[in-house]
Amino acid sequence: MFTLDLSLVRKQGKPTAFHFRAQLPALDGPDGMVSFIGPVDVETVVTYAQGQFWLDGTVSGQVELACARCLKRFAHPLKVTLAERYVQGRTVDDPEVTCVEDDLVDLTETVRQSILLALPMRALCRVECRGLCPECGQVLNEGACDCRSRTIDPRLAGLADFFKPNPKGVE
Ligand SMILES: [Zn+2]
Ligand SMILES: [Zn+2]
Repeated sequence: MFTLDLSLVRKQGKPTAFHFRAQLPALDGPDGMVSFIGPVDVETVVTYAQGQFWLDGTVSGQVELACARCLKRFAHPLKVTLAERYVQGRTVDDPEVTCVEDDLVDLTETVRQSILLALPMRALCRVECRGLCPECGQVLNEGACDCRSRTIDPRLAGLADFFKPNPKGVE
């Protein structure tokens, strides 16, 4: 889906840009499945230096998340930085460097992992989301319910009894 061709970088002998745009299947996120709204753009520049291919790039797109407070689904913009290094046909003792055999390097898994790491642990549709009423489930962003005004403060409950009219009407 997102495939670099390292032979192009060698041939050009200078930083080489690779742009990809693709629709990604839903990801299994920390808080359920995360689906994409529209395509994902991957823009990278690969430079060959010191025997390594240095990749710098960004991943951008939009995912649909469910708000942790009000449960509404909303569009969350993504902007993730990519920084990878590759060596070809040999191994190096460096966990930051990926060893590849081919000229063709598939970035799909790298892109997926970088998106997963960038997802918020607790998504909110907006910072000041007021969530749901615990009594009636009303979405409080859309207006107040009257649960709170109906609920009698326990400290005043005795007082309410005191003012209740006598059911028999006589003392
Ligand atoms: Zn919300
Ligand atoms: Zn309510």
